This record gives sequence, structure tokens and C-alpha cells, in this order.
Amino acid sequence: MVYDQKNIFAMILRGDIPCDKIYEDEFSLAFNDINPQAPVHALVIPKGEYMSMADFSANASTELVEGFFRAVGQTARQLGLEEGGYRLISNTGDNAHQEVPHLHFHILSGKKLGPMLSR
Ligand code: AMP
Repeated sequence: MVYDQKNIFAMILRGDIPCDKIYEDEFSLAFNDINPQAPVHALVIPKGEYMSMADFSANASTELVEGFFRAVGQTARQLGLEEGGYRLISNTGDNAHQEVPHLHFHILSGKKLGPMLSR
């Protein structure tokens, strides 16, 4: 599979379309999800052409992997989620219903989220 440079997160990273930015550094960008599933719903994406966790973990530099994970933690901290807690989700591939083919972590919080999957 080849990275689709027209995916919506690639467009955000290029500045072609705006986002509601929360945090940015040289490795990563965090912004609010356009269709929030919880009172707090942020997305964190690495800067680089990585389709999924599978792609990123196999192909990204150590520096980028480290920087990205630090950015996920920093975003949650900045949103004030440390005390109450939050959920991290990264959908990868068809089974997980990944819609945007650029690696992203969802940060969900702001209420009690209940069990991870509906039964
Ligand atoms: P996933 O199903 O894990 O691929 O999630 C993709 C997420 O991207 C969904 O939660 C969408 O609401 C979100 N999304 C799509 N377009 C945008 C956008 N332009 N800005 C912010 N979030 C978006």
C-alpha cells in the first residue's frame, strides 16, 4: 500500500486546510476532532507519511517515534486530563474501521467513557 498524499490529515499537515490546533512540535501535530465522540476528543498525528501504527512502528526513525509518543502525552497533559484519565485509541486497518490513512491517536475524555467496546 502506498501513502495517499490527498488524505485529510496530509492536507492539514501541509496547511491546505485548517485545524483547531492544540499542540505542535517538530514531530507531531495535535488538534480537535471535527466530529467529537466525547466532550474532549483530540487527534495526534506524526509529521511524516505514515499510514498506520504498523507502518510507523516499522519505518519511522527512533527520534520520530519517541517525539510522537511524547507529543501524545504532552497533549493529554495540556488538556488537563492527567487527573481524571483518558482513553487512547489508534484504529489500524479495516477491522478497526480506520477512515483516515495517516497514523493518528484519538484522545478521548471529559466524561466517564464506560467499557472500551459495546457488548
Ligand atoms: P479513524 O476512524 O480512526 O480513521 O478516525 C478519523 C477521525 O478523523 C474521525 O474521528 C473524524 O471525525 C476525524 N476527522 C476527519 N476529518 C477531520 C478534520 N478535517 N479535522 C479534524 N478531524 C477530522
